Amino acid sequence: MPRVSRRTFLRDFGQGTLAVAILGVGVVACASDEETDPTTGSPTTSTGPTETQASTTQATTAAPPSTAEPGGAEPVAWERVVLGGVSAYVLVRGGEALVVDTGNPGDAGAIAASLEGLGIGWGNVSHVVLTHLHRDHVGSLGDVMEAAPEAVGFAGEPDIPSIPSPRTLTPVGDGDTVFGLEIIATPGHTPGSIVVRDPVGGLLVAGDALRGENGGVVGASPRFSDDMDLANQSIKKLAELQFDTVVFGHGDPVVGGASEQVAALAASL
Ligand SMILES: [Zn+2]
Repeated sequence: MPRVSRRTFLRDFGQGTLAVAILGVGVVACASDEETDPTTGSPTTSTGPTETQASTTQATTAAPPSTAEPGGAEPVAWERVVLGGVSAYVLVRGGEALVVDTGNPGDAGAIAASLEGLGIGWGNVSHVVLTHLHRDHVGSLGDVMEAAPEAVGFAGEPDIPSIPSPRTLTPVGDGDTVFGLEIIATPGHTPGSIVVRDPVGGLLVAGDALRGENGGVVGASPRFSDDMDLANQSIKKLAELQFDTVVFGHGDPVVGGASEQVAALAASL
C-alpha cells in the first residue's frame, strides 16, 4: 500500500479511533500479554494456544495531522507489532521510522512486515530504541541492525553492557531527544529502563515501566523488576507528564485519557 494511502487511511479514522491492520496470514488475537521470563524467553503463563508467531498490528495516528504546530514537529504515527507475549512499536514520521524494541530472537520478520504495511522498509529505519535490556525486548536487535544498516541504536546507559549489539549503542536518558522524541529515564524495572514520549502527538511508549491490563494501566511487574521502589518512583515521574495514549511492552494500548490513568496509578502507590 503506498504510504500516501496509508496516511489517508489513518487520518480518515480520526483521533482516538483504533485502526487495525492485519498483515500476513494466520492472524490471531494475542491470547496473553503476560511478560515473558527474560531469562528463558518462555512465557510465564499460558492462557491459550494462539499466541505463537501472531503478527497482528494495530495502527493509529497519535493526533490528526492538522494539529502539527506551525514550524514544529509533526506527531509520529505509531504501529504496534505484536510478537507473541511482547510488543514492539514502529513510529513513523515523514517516511522515516524509529523502531522501539525488537522482540525475542526470530521476531525481525514480523517487524519487517509491519514496515512493509506502512509502505516503507528497513532502509527507512534510522533509529532503534531499546527500552531495557530484557531478552524479549532486545532479542532481535542483531537481525534488526543488520537489516537496517543506517540505524543508530539507543538505550539507557546502565543497561547497555547487557544488550548484545552488532554496533555500539548510544546511551540516552533524561533531557535527550531521539527522532525528535523525548527520552525519559525510568529506572526500576531495570537500572537503565527508558521510555519515549512524543509531546506533539501525546504518545508515551512505556516499555515495561508500565503494563496494560484489563483496558487500563498497571505498574511494572514485581516478578521481573529489579527494584520496585525505584520502579514506582519512576511511575510518579511519568505521572507528571501529559499524553493521550500509552503503549506497553505487555498489554493493550490505552488510547485516550492515558496520563490521567497513570496519575491515578501513581497516587495509589
Ligand atoms: Zn522487561
